[in-house]
Amino acid sequence: MTDISRRQFLRGDFSGKKAVIRPPWALAETAFTAACTRCCDCVNACPQHILVVDRNGQPTVDFDRGECTFCGKCAEACQPRALQKKQGEAPWQLKAHIGNGCVARNNVVCRACGDACPVQAIRFRPAVMAAAQPEIEAEKCTGCGACFAPCPVSAIRLAQA
Ligand code: SF4
Ligand code: SF4
Ligand code: SF4
Repeated sequence: MTDISRRQFLRGDFSGKKAVIRPPWALAETAFTAACTRCCDCVNACPQHILVVDRNGQPTVDFDRGECTFCGKCAEACQPRALQKKQGEAPWQLKAHIGNGCVARNNVVCRACGDACPVQAIRFRPAVMAAAQPEIEAEKCTGCGACFAPCPVSAIRLAQA
């Protein structure tokens, strides 16, 4: 039997594997895992404390701890250049997605994700005789993860666009 966490269950992830989200400005996965020396300098540099290490000792983002402010401290700290911040380049292609577990989908009023979003990327569409429905504007969403932890039912997922 596959053992999955409650969070994975609520997100509909039954694979037993958690998707790995590398820090912003990370090289593509194969190049990243080859370049990263596991020094943990990025983990220690992050003022938000959202970077943790995976089972291989390489950094991943844990949005349960908070959001990325795109301050760039992690990339600045990365001497082996597994993280490379380039002028005008997006930090990553992550976008937030709202799953069916969302309580508003089940007619319960909730705006926790929208209240948390620093760029107002979550709109609430009014519904007749029903709770307003959240919709993410993909063009505005930076993938910062600020909406992730506040969701009371873990209905938000961050995934590559
Ligand atoms: S950009 Fe800043 S807040 Fe985001 S992971 Fe890097 S150090 Fe942390
Ligand atoms: S600073 Fe760079 S090399 Fe060191 S753990 Fe972070 S990504 Fe890997
Ligand atoms: S990931 Fe950030 S920008 Fe995107 S919807 Fe959530 S809070 Fe807003």
